[in-house]
Amino acid sequence: MKGICILGSTGSIGQSTLDVIERHPDRYKVIALTANRSVERLHEQCIRHHPEKVVVVDEMSAETLRKSLSSSGLKDITVLQGISALAEVAALDNVDQVMAAIVGAAGLMPTLSAVRAGKRILLANKEALVMSGRLFMREVEKFGAELLPIDSEHNALFQCMPAGYRVGERKAEVRSLLLTASGGPFRELPLESFREITPEQACAHPKWVMGRKISVDSATMMNKGLELIEASWLFNLPVEQIKVVIHPQSIIHSLVDYVDGTMLAQMGNPDMRIPIAHAMAWPDRIDSGVKPLDLFAIKKLEFETLDNERFPCLELAIKAMKKGGNCSVTLNAANEVAVEAFLNGGIHFTEIALVIEKVMSEAPFCEIENIEQVLDSDVRARALAEETIKALT
Ligand code: NDP
Repeated sequence: MKGICILGSTGSIGQSTLDVIERHPDRYKVIALTANRSVERLHEQCIRHHPEKVVVVDEMSAETLRKSLSSSGLKDITVLQGISALAEVAALDNVDQVMAAIVGAAGLMPTLSAVRAGKRILLANKEALVMSGRLFMREVEKFGAELLPIDSEHNALFQCMPAGYRVGERKAEVRSLLLTASGGPFRELPLESFREITPEQACAHPKWVMGRKISVDSATMMNKGLELIEASWLFNLPVEQIKVVIHPQSIIHSLVDYVDGTMLAQMGNPDMRIPIAHAMAWPDRIDSGVKPLDLFAIKKLEFETLDNERFPCLELAIKAMKKGGNCSVTLNAANEVAVEAFLNGGIHFTEIALVIEKVMSEAPFCEIENIEQVLDSDVRARALAEETIKALT
């Protein structure tokens, strides 16, 4: 029986994880669940999964949850509050696996706490790795944590790696990695219409159901940029050896290109329960609840090159990774602030890339030696992004 902590249980990935867990009550036990402030959903999850501990970051929400759990007769579930409690539950002794599914930079410290406690990390929170790349991978090694990718592309790559592969190793026989991208909702929209794209349109992804931030990232292709950086750290390859290919059907989730001319692909219906179940059970395989792929219904798989003019965010991410130091922290922070402003109606869709580019050109550069420098660069870039947005509006 494996004890599970889900950081971000009320989100899209968190809910899919609970769905997989529910199918295997003999294998997994929920120890801790966390949210920012989605009290109602967390309450429902407590009734269904009866964790030992729950964490909410927001103080008022914690009070509301305590009362509602008490009136449902669930007084034995401990409600903790605050950012430090996230790190605390991720490191509990009876937790074996931590699903890192908080969105954005807020996930960094709790995920690192799980790493330092030597847990199996199911990594969905790509922003944590983008921000702290080398440091994160060093800590995984130092504390003997087991890192398994949840992002469908990286999970696919992991599945296509040679037998016995450990995340972080470099494999000389791998010539390149190919990350597939559906192209998002605006692959064929005329460029002149991009400025007027609304948050609702950006969040309506054609293939995947996801949280709002990652949906916008997918629409701008920043998601693919963050994934490129993530792949570079996870598979220990320079970005020059990682390519993006548009694959509108979202059936092949990524490919590994070997020196002998073999190309291995992982396929499946676009449903995050596949990589979640894979990483939770690895090296075993368990039922994920996803229906089998019907190749005869799909009929054809298409591949296209990416139109850089439509998606400047991808180039910005490549630039940040090549430059190194704190550039990926700056990129990520500026993107988070710009996406939030877009979702709140503060800036246009096309201004997301403009804000990031401006912040990247103005933020002071530094090498990253420790986590304090990561957090410091994050704060500075957020402030610069806020200023840039103010100047735009
Ligand atoms: P959601 O927005 O659906 O969920 C985010 C979760 O994080 C919620 O539980 C939310 O709580 C919690 N949260 C938000 N802000 C904070 C905070 N400041 N402190 C603590 N907890 C917080 O996101 P997704 O599930 O879509 O994505 C989660 C991560 O997984 C992201 O990094 C994303 O890039 C990655 N990912 C997602 C995929 C997907 O298909 N959804 C695919 C691949 C990767 P509350 O509900 O209270 O706001």
